[in-house]
Amino acid sequence: MLILGFESTAHTFGAAVALSNAKKGEELSPKNTKIIAENDKKYPSLKEGFIPRKLADFHAKNFDEILGNTLKTAGAAISDLDAVCYSYGPGIGHSLHVGYVAAKSISVSRNIPLIPVNHALSHIEIARFHSGYKDPLAIYVSGGNTQLLILEKFGSHAKYRVLGETLDIGVGNFLDHVGRHFMLTPPDAVGVLKEAQKGTQLVDMPYSIKGMNTSYTGLLTTATKMDPKKIPIENICLSSQEYAFSMLLEASERALALTGKKQIVGVGGNYRNKRLQEMTLELAKEQNAVCHFPSFELLGDNAGMITITGALQFHSNCFDETLLPNQKARADAEKVGWWL
Ligand code: MG
Repeated sequence: MLILGFESTAHTFGAAVALSNAKKGEELSPKNTKIIAENDKKYPSLKEGFIPRKLADFHAKNFDEILGNTLKTAGAAISDLDAVCYSYGPGIGHSLHVGYVAAKSISVSRNIPLIPVNHALSHIEIARFHSGYKDPLAIYVSGGNTQLLILEKFGSHAKYRVLGETLDIGVGNFLDHVGRHFMLTPPDAVGVLKEAQKGTQLVDMPYSIKGMNTSYTGLLTTATKMDPKKIPIENICLSSQEYAFSMLLEASERALALTGKKQIVGVGGNYRNKRLQEMTLELAKEQNAVCHFPSFELLGDNAGMITITGALQFHSNCFDETLLPNQKARADAEKVGWWL
């Protein structure tokens, strides 16, 4: 089967084609299912953040080129496709609709199934797909999302259950804010990491964990009230990171203790942070668990993970064509019909 997929939840507009040789009833794996073409463009956002209308214009403008290049690399025509998928949420409404219109128009004109894919779910599923882990604790950390999830059986299918999550903003959002406030280079979480690597001393910050939930706005208020003339910026960044990650991983440790899971996947754009990976590996070692992080490219938003998840859904006939773009879609609302 040949599947085309679109990603357009936020700054990335991307398309990918997956080819699968899996037979009916056979489990999809990296051996029988591969991304054979992928292209994307990212909206430049450093100065003004994301302006929804401008994001959607950017995606729409790049649609022709991205789709054309992706099909060309795949050596495929639209008429060769068996299904088309797109990420229907969570994300920014304006940009979600560009992906929807792109996929829906191809689905209608070619009379092939339309598969709405949950973006958050695909961040986890791409990690399970490549690691082969059947039953991990997923630590999902991005700008907008910070959640701990596990799979649970519900009759004939499975669902993700959110064991804990942020009570306010995502870890990524917190670190981006700190980066922008102090005008770091770049002015986001990457800038915070760069400064933190030079840090030598922790400063006091609020540590807020309630059960398996965490909260980051207290940290944000404290960090942005600090005066870099009195406290070196590298120590503010070091402390911001260490406190945020420690809270998240203490919650994760509680989740492991509660569930007895022995596999961990760390997913979402903020898992590109090597310090967070290092701390997660330490936790895994202490808990006798194995741990997997997707590659650098697959940790950020990408059309490949959407398309692989679309392929899993198509192959197991587990999708709802009537779903519309949904800014607040949640991973725990999805049926996971391919979980064995
Ligand atoms: Mg994402």
